[in-house]
Amino acid sequence: MATLEQATVILPRAPQGAFRNEPFIDFSQHANAHAMREALTRVGDQLGHEYALIIGGERVKTSGKIESRNPARPAQVVGVHQKAGAEHAELAVAAALKAFETWKFVSAEERAALLLGAVEIIRDRKFDFCAWLTYEVGKNWAEADADVGETIDFLEFYAREALRLAGATTPIQYPGEKNELLYIPLGVGAVISPWNFPFAIMAGMTAAAIVTGNTVVLKPSSDSPTIAARFMEVLEEAGLPPGVVNFCPGSGASFGNAVVAHPKTRFIAFTGSKEVGLDVHERAAKTQPGQIWIKRTILEMGGKDSIIVSADADFDAAVAGVVASAFGFSGQKCSACSRAIVEEPIYDAFVERLREKVAGLTVGDPAANPNMGPVVNESAMKSILEYAAIGAKEGRLVAGGKAVETPDKGYFVEPTVIVDVAPDARISQEEIFGPVLAVIKARDFDHALEIANNTEFGLTGSVYSTDRRKLDHARRAYHVGNLYFNRKCTGAMVGAHPFGGFNMSGTDSKAGGADYLLLFTQAKSVGEKL
Ligand code: NAD
Repeated sequence: MATLEQATVILPRAPQGAFRNEPFIDFSQHANAHAMREALTRVGDQLGHEYALIIGGERVKTSGKIESRNPARPAQVVGVHQKAGAEHAELAVAAALKAFETWKFVSAEERAALLLGAVEIIRDRKFDFCAWLTYEVGKNWAEADADVGETIDFLEFYAREALRLAGATTPIQYPGEKNELLYIPLGVGAVISPWNFPFAIMAGMTAAAIVTGNTVVLKPSSDSPTIAARFMEVLEEAGLPPGVVNFCPGSGASFGNAVVAHPKTRFIAFTGSKEVGLDVHERAAKTQPGQIWIKRTILEMGGKDSIIVSADADFDAAVAGVVASAFGFSGQKCSACSRAIVEEPIYDAFVERLREKVAGLTVGDPAANPNMGPVVNESAMKSILEYAAIGAKEGRLVAGGKAVETPDKGYFVEPTVIVDVAPDARISQEEIFGPVLAVIKARDFDHALEIANNTEFGLTGSVYSTDRRKLDHARRAYHVGNLYFNRKCTGAMVGAHPFGGFNMSGTDSKAGGADYLLLFTQAKSVGEKL
């Protein structure tokens, strides 16, 4: 690991060419499938290691431990981690505060070079990172690759954006003066990440914070601390100075609360559920003794996302889009389609085709690359099955509804479809976060839009239609942060689909967009008389 002084000698590597999204791996190619199997074996040999907290560059052990387990085979321990408590929040914030005094003056070029160095390391070990995601959260190969690719994209994109921001100036030069606008960092930030994109979202929020000159206390989800520990290793290998990122898995209730409430925490970048996001928001708003700023919160929360299928849609494309959006990664995406809203004239035919397509989905150990792997843990499985049972009463169950028994006692749930669901039913309104799709009948397109907008959320949505007037109407009236036409509502691409939602889906931070880094800075205007 580099010292803080060494941080100033990281050799700047300028971004090469224009930004381009990382290409997806084609696993139908024998060589790629072979490389993935080898990575699963290689990473399989590394499961069960113990990882320390990293505070100010020091390895710290705690008495309490977090065991991360493979949701497809819960007896298999993926990593053993320390459990940071409230007392570690004090140490981690102090270390981040100390590092901030130096890191805030490191040039944007050098900070960007750190991210670009990390990208090179991750690219070199791409298959291994995919394998870690398969073991730790149950992603099949394509889902794991999408998560790794998005991580690379976030790092590359934010490196470039930091350089652009460093070159920003005022819109006007006042006559007789030199005017500047400097985007300076905020200070110490808490980065609190979810398990469902445990690499991309965790690394993306961390990268945005440090590339703009902040320092971070990183608290990954207890369901996915190992991938975060592996990212921490990459950052250290790329030259991360001590204290710039402090790696602290721990419980949300004790460590998370303590770091959010700490008077020296300047901002919180959180992605997770609505309930926890609102709690973080409230806790951060309370001024603590000794606190001299208003904390900033960047909160990305849940969704209840719909796909509208219009009577004039390309039928096969719409069915395929709904199935991919609803059941990819077992529906455990904030952007997942949990409601298909279908116009009456094609409703019955759509339900029939959907049922056939869902019947063909394979469910199993993601290491063997089925369509669907497990859900993340036992309590998620219970909650999803409860919703399936509620849904079976609220509508008509046409597929799934049960757990899938496996010899290894993994947490598998059948892809579940419930049709004839009322727009105000519980399964139409509450985030389930699993492979449960509600199908709702709409009288016409206006009615479909009205249903699509009837939840407290506003994250993603999609419309399948060949009618330009309907698409134009939806462009104005469909109230979501990420709207798609004639494609699935999952799979946002960095740079092309800046990501974040309205209403109870969060503060619409637009991760992967040109405005994102501004959230991690404050602008200082300097005017000098010539
Ligand atoms: P979660 O809210 O349970 O946990 C998120 C993080 O918050 C975890 O690290 C957790 O340990 C921590 N936490 C829990 N209690 C805390 C507390 N009191 N104080 C501080 N931190 C605390 O969410 P999850 O189950 O990890 O992720 C799934 C949720 O995330 C879903 O609701 C999903 O829609 C949402 N999500 C949203 C986006 C988005 O961009 N809008 C992206 C991914 C996931």
